[in-house]
Amino acid sequence: MISPVLPTYNRTPLEFARGEGAWLTTVDGRRFLDFGAGIAVNVLGHAHPALVAALTEQAGRVWHVSNLYEIPEQRRLAEMLVEATFADTVFFTNSGTEAAEGAIKMIRKRFADDPARDKIITFEGSFHGRSTGAIAAAGSAKLTEGCGPLMPGFLHLPWGDHEAFEAAMDETVAAVMVEPIQGEGGIRVLPDACLRGIRAACDRVGALLVLDEVQCGMGRTGMLFGHERAGVTPDIMMVAKGIGGGFPLGALLATEDAARGMTAGTHGSTYGGNPLACAVGCKVMEVVNTPDFLAEVRAKAGFLAQKLGALAASHPDVIEGVRGEGLMLGLRLCKGVAPTALVDAARAEGLLLVPAADNVVRLLPPLTITEAELAEGIDRLDRAAAGAGRAAA
Ligand code: PLP
Repeated sequence: MISPVLPTYNRTPLEFARGEGAWLTTVDGRRFLDFGAGIAVNVLGHAHPALVAALTEQAGRVWHVSNLYEIPEQRRLAEMLVEATFADTVFFTNSGTEAAEGAIKMIRKRFADDPARDKIITFEGSFHGRSTGAIAAAGSAKLTEGCGPLMPGFLHLPWGDHEAFEAAMDETVAAVMVEPIQGEGGIRVLPDACLRGIRAACDRVGALLVLDEVQCGMGRTGMLFGHERAGVTPDIMMVAKGIGGGFPLGALLATEDAARGMTAGTHGSTYGGNPLACAVGCKVMEVVNTPDFLAEVRAKAGFLAQKLGALAASHPDVIEGVRGEGLMLGLRLCKGVAPTALVDAARAEGLLLVPAADNVVRLLPPLTITEAELAEGIDRLDRAAAGAGRAAA
């Protein structure tokens, strides 16, 4: 008989009763060090006092009024995002998928009077969510199988094939949509030079650059957004996950020109940008978007990357290499070692990790994690890798 919860997930049988910082405790009292952070969501860890205070304070005043009215918390968060980024304007959603859907509509609306410009270029291995538009955008068979007919208008190019990309860039391209670091695709970093090249090609043909920072944004790379290091800005950007610190919140950021088709009545959401989500989002921005906080993320990231390099060198039969940026790192495993084997072995050592495509295991700890906790996680990972190596042999 089908379970009461639709069985679209293979769930690990762990139930958590409490979280504090980088730690989760199960109902039966077992403690886990959380290097998954709800898949890059809990940027300030679990039960961060400032977020608990922001949410409960707002909950005692007003939960929901709808976008028929002014929402001061939403306006404040939009102002903070506009102030901190390339964007002139922001639309709020409840998730990354909805931000991606909004981006697709925004692209189409921007070129509504230019029907020949009908292509959106995306890349193999990308992930933008599970809606019909988002799976059509990513295009991988794993996501789209059995879901056709699919939304047309996407051109999927191989990752890293510069020639194919340059050949495809002409006046029929409306936008290029790309993650600065592929998350689900296996922590594949788009090199700065490639991001600059994509920006230049978009400018050359008059296409929009759309960056999906749902997983790599909100401080995870040690900069507020992952694209900043390349010194270019997008026209549209999707944000979610970390911006709500665990409360459902997403955002679609855009320049005034990119957003010019999105006039009153063209788009909406009952819950998007509601007072509870935006009160939390403002607090996350306040804490994360400071030079000291981001510098600390970079320092911790350097420490973790160095420790992981040493760990990989001592388990050459399990770990092929380390990749990623900031506190968004991936262990590429050797052929024959399944990501789930290392994730399971780590869990047995009290460490939570997240698998990804391309034979990768992700490390996405809260950005507030301490160096001592990172070191503790490495010790546990060391024991887990030894176990996974023995099992694979
Ligand atoms: N875009 C990227 C890069 C993601 O990693 C994800 C989720 O993993 C999404 C979009 C979809 O976000 P959500 O699950 O909040 O809808």
